[in-house]
Amino acid sequence: MPELPEVETVCRTLNERLRGVRILEVRVIEARLRRPVAADFGSRLEGRTVEAVSRRGKYILATLDGGSTWVSHLGMSGKLVFRPRGASLEKHDHIIFGLSDGGELRYHDPRRFGMCVVLPDREVAAWPPLASLGIDPLDPRFTAAYLYPLLHRSRRSIRDLLLDQRIVCGLGNIYINEVLHRTGVRPTRRGHRVSRALAEELARAIPALLREAIRWRGSSVSDYRDGNDHRGGFQWRLQVYDRKGAPCATCATPIKRIGLGNRGVFYCPTCQR
Ligand SMILES: [Zn+2]
Repeated sequence: MPELPEVETVCRTLNERLRGVRILEVRVIEARLRRPVAADFGSRLEGRTVEAVSRRGKYILATLDGGSTWVSHLGMSGKLVFRPRGASLEKHDHIIFGLSDGGELRYHDPRRFGMCVVLPDREVAAWPPLASLGIDPLDPRFTAAYLYPLLHRSRRSIRDLLLDQRIVCGLGNIYINEVLHRTGVRPTRRGHRVSRALAEELARAIPALLREAIRWRGSSVSDYRDGNDHRGGFQWRLQVYDRKGAPCATCATPIKRIGLGNRGVFYCPTCQR
């Protein structure tokens, strides 16, 4: 599933290539995404020019002229990729955007957990999926003063708390596993057992890890590709995620996997307490 570094990488590619480009034509081949594509989705996009592309958590926001915003979420397996106009359709290409620069952008999503909507600018901030999001970890307001009370007053596991998009938006299983290894914390540790010092460490380590992964253009552990359909490079630098039985890079203890909720978590039983 694309997490913050992957979505940020896609956003940067889209921002470079789409800014100032007009959307000439929208063809919806499959409307049944997690949130079905609205019947007027295409007509609200056609003729609009993209002014800028930005990100909020795992949501991609393309600001359009005329006062509206196109919001996308890549779900589990979504891609927004550029193709030459008229390139043959691939299975799971669900929406085709014909562009004024002569190319096409395609929304491709085998598992169809993503979404694409157009909203008037004045409704974007209050749109429920965005309004419920916590602070973005790359936002300067993401500090120990913000994080500590949210973690400390809970009995949930730290893995679940960091996965909760209402607390921190943009993190998923990969980067949570990695940051807990870097900070020496077991994924099962309860929130109320997080000290102020650890909250400070997390408030530093989370953005540092994400920035590093963005420099590598994200992690391609399964489907993820950037807007140019290139793989990321950070998957080769993961220390614990999906490395069950491999030696910990710090102490050589085999990495352990346990089920937590419906996902696996990976940690070093020696380094992480
Ligand atoms: Zn270790």
